Amino acid sequence: MKLSEKIALVTGGGRGIGAAICEELAARGATVVVNYSRSAEAAEAVAAAIVAAGGKARTWQADVASIEQVDAMIKGIVAEFGRIDILVNNAGITRDKLLLRMSEEDWDAVLDTNLKGAFLTLKSAVPVMMKQRSGAIVNVGSVIGKVGGAGQINYSASKSGLVGLTKSAAKEFGSRNIRVNAVAPGFIDTDMTEVLKPEYRDAILKQIPLARMGAAADVAKVVAFLCSEDAAYVHGEVISIDGGLFM
Ligand code: NAP
Repeated sequence: MKLSEKIALVTGGGRGIGAAICEELAARGATVVVNYSRSAEAAEAVAAAIVAAGGKARTWQADVASIEQVDAMIKGIVAEFGRIDILVNNAGITRDKLLLRMSEEDWDAVLDTNLKGAFLTLKSAVPVMMKQRSGAIVNVGSVIGKVGGAGQINYSASKSGLVGLTKSAAKEFGSRNIRVNAVAPGFIDTDMTEVLKPEYRDAILKQIPLARMGAAADVAKVVAFLCSEDAAYVHGEVISIDGGLFM
């Protein structure tokens, strides 16, 4: 599972699952670019903790929904490090509302970040990986992309869309030795789930066979595996990390 010499970009790497992924990749030897859009302080703290532990990291501000900012980030990473080996599309937001209350803006904000963001990073990073004739991409989907969720029409559509994007990209780039996979986390303890009402949280916990919420590190370990040579023949796959919630 060694990732030495690898250059990794993790979108939304400053908080929650993204921060755990940055730490896990760095612990395995990768040089990690911690992308953030608003949380500069949190991202700097993640990079500083990695460096303090003897790893290599730097932060990079870019809104994944902006083609100009994504393009500038990928070009900047290539200018600084010469390559990009690992891309983890983790940035994501929710704007949960029942359909009748959901505005076009709620729809656009979630789709632009969660789905278009992955499209934009692929568009910029894949040509670099093609020239290298190697790369590993992991998209962070969700159990909600598989089963849907009341009040989450925008979010579930974005995460189902990521599954289609993952499989199509796997078919397009496989012959160039670029592996593309996705993970589908269940309910993971982060800021995103912190806002859930306690009664909703309890109801979900009763449905999880492993009887606990997941930790960000539970997701990070699987992502690191998918980025590594140990997963050399895993391609176009969506791996659930949900304590058995959906099976
Ligand atoms: P979180 O704690 O709310 O973190 C979200 C991350 O996304 C932050 O680092 C945030 O950075 C970044 N982000 C948001 N908009 C961005 C943008 N436009 N450009 C760049 N970065 C952006 O959420 P989380 O729970 O760690 O979620 C991470 C991923 O896992 C998301 O894709 C989420 O859908 C998915 N997921 C989470 C769960 C769960 O239970 N927590 C379950 C399934 C899937 P800034 O603060 O800098 O904006």
